[in-house]
Amino acid sequence: MNKIVNSKKLEKIKRKAIENSVPIIMDDTLEVMEGYMKDIKVDKILEIGTAVGYSALCFSQFLNYNGKIDTIERDEERIKEAKENIKILDETYTINILEGDATQILPKLNDKYDMIFIDAAKGKYPFFLEQSLRLLSDKGIIFADNILFKGYVLSDYNKHKQRTAVNHLREFIKLSTENPELETKILEVGDGLAIIKRK
Ligand code: SAH
Ligand code: MG
Repeated sequence: MNKIVNSKKLEKIKRKAIENSVPIIMDDTLEVMEGYMKDIKVDKILEIGTAVGYSALCFSQFLNYNGKIDTIERDEERIKEAKENIKILDETYTINILEGDATQILPKLNDKYDMIFIDAAKGKYPFFLEQSLRLLSDKGIIFADNILFKGYVLSDYNKHKQRTAVNHLREFIKLSTENPELETKILEVGDGLAIIKRK
């Protein structure tokens, strides 16, 4: 492990995010991801959806020495707060915020990432998956949060006002589970977590 983040400061960032209704990663989801990250060699992480930097700071503890995180965020207020949080905790400049819309930024990236965390606009999940597969290292792993969206995705309820998002999440699940080159698990932790690897 690269470094230990000051857990009291991280806890404070977490509490503030919850108070301000920032949709940060849920504890049980994080726990599952940490279990995987402990077992793989993670040099580069890509995150789609930084918010205030909480999940990126959590992941930074599982990077190898000299590892890096690129994380994408489009909301200016959140970028500002994420920068402040990162400045407090990320003494080794591990976390790099890519500012702007992920749909524009992703096609311009050309690095390979060992872990990709999809945690942004649900309506863009199929596109995020396509781009993530292009950017994933051979042994890399993709996690996608909120994949079950409060249970709507697996229910047959279709009249919800969020049905466009739900349809895109269903499409994401179909694309990943029906791709013969991929091994996909959908876990009912938090708001639903998809775990995708190449076979
Ligand atoms: N990963 C964070 C939470 C992210 S919340 C954590 O667990 O701590 C989702 C974030 O994605 C929001 O801040 C939102 O502004 C951002 N977002 C949504 N769609 C986006 C897009 N298309 N491009 C960039 N950022 C996006
Ligand atoms: Mg989420």
